[in-house]
Amino acid sequence: MHQMTLAEIARGLADKKFSSEELTKVLLARITQLDPQLNSFISLTEELALEQAKAADARRANGESGALLGAPIAHKDLFCTQGIRTSCGSKMLDNFKAPYDATVVTKLAAAGAVTLGKTNMDEFAMGSANESSWYGAVKNPWNLEHVPGGSSGGSAAAVAARLLPAATATDTGGSIRQPAAFTNLTGLKPTYGRVSRWGMIAYASSLDQGGPLARTAEDCAILLQGMAGFDQNDSTSIDEPVPDYSASLGDSLQGLRIGVPKEYFSAGLDPRIAELIQNSIKELQKLGAVIKEISLPNMQHAIPAYYVIAPAEASSNLSRFDGVRFGHRCENPENLIDLYKRSRGEGFGPEVQRRIMVGAYALSAGYYDAYYLKAQKIRRLVKNDFMAAFNEVDIILGPTTPNPAWKLGAKNSDPVAAYLEDVYTITANLAGLPGLSMPAGFVDGLPVGVQLLAPYFQEGRLLNVAHQYQLNTDWHTRTPTGF
Ligand code: GLN
Repeated sequence: MHQMTLAEIARGLADKKFSSEELTKVLLARITQLDPQLNSFISLTEELALEQAKAADARRANGESGALLGAPIAHKDLFCTQGIRTSCGSKMLDNFKAPYDATVVTKLAAAGAVTLGKTNMDEFAMGSANESSWYGAVKNPWNLEHVPGGSSGGSAAAVAARLLPAATATDTGGSIRQPAAFTNLTGLKPTYGRVSRWGMIAYASSLDQGGPLARTAEDCAILLQGMAGFDQNDSTSIDEPVPDYSASLGDSLQGLRIGVPKEYFSAGLDPRIAELIQNSIKELQKLGAVIKEISLPNMQHAIPAYYVIAPAEASSNLSRFDGVRFGHRCENPENLIDLYKRSRGEGFGPEVQRRIMVGAYALSAGYYDAYYLKAQKIRRLVKNDFMAAFNEVDIILGPTTPNPAWKLGAKNSDPVAAYLEDVYTITANLAGLPGLSMPAGFVDGLPVGVQLLAPYFQEGRLLNVAHQYQLNTDWHTRTPTGF
């Protein structure tokens, strides 16, 4: 039962082959049995899940239908869930029970999705390995000695290990696409503004975006359908109709113009990954796509710009965690300053503290022009590169990551080495564009992802290309041994 995709579950439920309650019980038992190896969940919500599953079964019995009605999912633990711990992977929020649901949580619950629990993540979504969580590192089901990617590593590991068919995640600089690549999943970061950020604990507000992690493009279409849409509570949410993402999956790729940036194939890319990317290009050519070399000349400046902008926004967003309003408060403070200092010093881990320091420095008087303003100018250049490229091509294709998943601990002593691994993903966040990662093969038994980028609001196009690719390849069907 645990091998079923969301689409297969929807058909099974519609045909009354099993109930949502039966499926939910099977998956909860599987999580209890197997998750100790992975550490992919921070909280299990068994009671809520069974309640929601029974309610979904009752709705189906009353003649309701819908692809998500009775479908088991989990939420990354930065989506606020009313009355349930929402930790953001931090000691700071270990005792925080959200007083309301995030819009994404409300929408998916209304569609009938069943929440099995909250998944592990890098602390405040800062990281690319899921090793900065206060709840411990998450392991990659493809090799338990390797990282699953981050920051949505818990959602990725859980879905890859078939503990559940799909999960929500967020992507500020790659945190949906990179763990998707590292665990053989399909993950979509939507256009900035497509999915509401209301109730999603902020890391860097101008870059954060929620999206789906699943095994197939078909399933990402189903989950995105339940997540996307205008929300008056989020001032950056866009009031545009949500297309039917499943309806365009079958479109032909004949004549599709795919741009391959020459800067992507530089010395930093593992040659074995480069070869798998070339194979995926050939596969898409067979389906009618036309390949064109393009250039994104400002790509080399994207990492330094991102690692100024994201920490700057984080230093501002995280000022609300002061020991007074939310979360951890130190014991016996001597005065107000002592309360702030010790609550924040004890509540935040080292990576979060590093980012707050970098961000506060970049924003301080005298340095603002040199760092923050400069980074914003680079951001515009990165966006302009994409706009020029999309005058010539429909989709941009390349690797999701320069290397496969590294060993646990391998980059702990050198944060910059980890930052450099974000080279292919962060540009989409800087420009606000949608991006998707899908399985493209293996290197030393570890999965490799190919990334597709599209113009604003063309999530449907990305899902269509990925679906056609998946109808003709079987990488996405591979299951890690032991799961
Ligand atoms: N690795 C990037 C960072 O640490 C991106 C994280 C994310 O997308 N949340 O900031």
